[in-house]
Amino acid sequence: MAQISRSLRLTFYILVILAGTVISAGLAMRHAERQTLEEEAARANEQLGLYANSLHTLIERYRALPAVLALDPELRSALQGPVTPETQQTLNRKLEKINGAARSSTLELLNHEGLAVAASNWRLPSSYVGHNYSFRPYFKQTRSQGSGRFYAIGVTSGIPGYFLASAVKADNDEFLGAMVVKLEFPELEHEWSQGNDTLLVSDARGIVFIANQPGWRYRHLQPLSSNDLEDIRLTRQYDKQLLVPLQHATLQQFADNSRLIRVQGDEGTTNYLWESLPLETEGWTLHLLRKPASAFEESRNAGLAAAGAWLALVFLLLFLNQRWRLGKLRQRNRKELERLVEERTRDLRTAQEGLVQSAKLAALGQMSAALAHEINQPLTTQRMQLATLRLLLEHGRVDDAYKALRPLDDMLTRMAALTSHLKTYARKSPSGLRERLDLAAVVDQSLHLLEARLRNEDIEVALHLTRPAWVRGDAIRLEQVLINLLRNALDAMQDKPLKHLRISLDAEDQLWQLRVSDTGGGIAEEHLLSVFDPFFTTKPVGDGLGLGLAVSYAIVHELGGRLSVANQDQGAVFTLSLPIDLEAHIQC
Ligand code: ADP
Repeated sequence: MAQISRSLRLTFYILVILAGTVISAGLAMRHAERQTLEEEAARANEQLGLYANSLHTLIERYRALPAVLALDPELRSALQGPVTPETQQTLNRKLEKINGAARSSTLELLNHEGLAVAASNWRLPSSYVGHNYSFRPYFKQTRSQGSGRFYAIGVTSGIPGYFLASAVKADNDEFLGAMVVKLEFPELEHEWSQGNDTLLVSDARGIVFIANQPGWRYRHLQPLSSNDLEDIRLTRQYDKQLLVPLQHATLQQFADNSRLIRVQGDEGTTNYLWESLPLETEGWTLHLLRKPASAFEESRNAGLAAAGAWLALVFLLLFLNQRWRLGKLRQRNRKELERLVEERTRDLRTAQEGLVQSAKLAALGQMSAALAHEINQPLTTQRMQLATLRLLLEHGRVDDAYKALRPLDDMLTRMAALTSHLKTYARKSPSGLRERLDLAAVVDQSLHLLEARLRNEDIEVALHLTRPAWVRGDAIRLEQVLINLLRNALDAMQDKPLKHLRISLDAEDQLWQLRVSDTGGGIAEEHLLSVFDPFFTTKPVGDGLGLGLAVSYAIVHELGGRLSVANQDQGAVFTLSLPIDLEAHIQC
């Protein structure tokens, strides 16, 4: 179950990472694509400005021409009366000449009814002369406003062009007719067709009438109303040309006149960056269409970079997360380890205490058994002696009774000594009583207690103590140990001629080594292992109990030390080792 949820979670994480990679790459690609397009659009827009300028300059060059010609006295006087064939001929030639010099397309003179009375193209079959153009808006505009302009397909020539007209007026401001210049843009269209861009000029209704590429002319960019269509029909602006809508849709809008447009053509759809620039004076709009350069490489690079950055971020987060978890795990493990060590230490201590206690109990048991044996005999003897005593008193033998009391007294003293030893051992200092004490001072105190005996027996004492010798322990019990050792040494030397007692205290390997040596003849080889046994004694009955060393041994062990014995030159040497209290030494 846990395995399944683990693998499900893993799958989920992988999916999230993959989705993140795809999304970040996609977004970056889109962004890069849009940025490239916008940059391209800005460049196209700049170029569009240049194209608009060239068109504007071209038109401006001719704008004043009809107005200047309208002031010509010859033209004005010709329109004031009926035009004779001679006058017409003269005017035709004049216009032809001016047209040639001005390099305009056609010049024509209309009378007040819109009838062309003279034209520069009078020689051609498509001559305007004799045709009435009163239906053309530029004529109507000129009549009402003094000037007019209009782009249209020539109804006579079939050639499209821009008609600029100016009113010819009499001195009394009477409208006599209109001077019209027609501009055609084949050169402009040709010039524009050199580049790769598509350039279009549309009129106010959105009908394209100039295009540098075939197939675009007479397409309308927005729907035409029936009014529009009617108007176009009446003015014969595009004459017999079929107006076809251009199917297009905006994909992206960058600025007001800057878009990405999908155009539905005969050969399928094409995307164009479409820049438009309104030409205010003419009421036209100039368009520049450019096929966007493939931004594939840039956007792919951007996508790869974004995916890389995303993955780097993900792996960084995973790495940090892993580190954090490892750190936590380590911390937990360390804590667990510490806890285990503490637990084991506690267990060990308990076990050790238990061992010490059971060892002590075992020793006590051993001692009690021996004690019972030791005490039983004197008790039986005492009972017998008491019976003897009673008999003696019954017979009035008081003196004898007194004599019989003596061994009883001795026996009781001996028993009291026996129990006092055991009391010392049993007096278990509260567990852990480990006061800081100077072992050298304990030696001093013990020697002080035995001072009288040392003096009386003429003992030569040699002391070599290192001071202070800090240990942890129980001063009274250690004193007890030392007194036992010293007494034994004195006992051993009692009948010896040489009585040298030597006590030394040195630090060796973190231990204080306290040595008590004498010249008492030493211990028989076979007894060396038994001297610490309870009730082992070689002393005559009444002198030794055999408990001193056993109790001392137990006390020293309890304090974490050792008590050992060896023979040397002329006597025995007892060595007491106790751990140095390093802490105390550092403080001091
Ligand atoms: P006790 O002194 O009552 O005999 P101990 O346990 O003190 O009991 O001593 C046990 C025995 O060890 C002594 O009886 C003696 O034989 C031997 N002993 C102890 N100390 C010395 C010593 N310094 N020199 C020789 N023998 C010793």
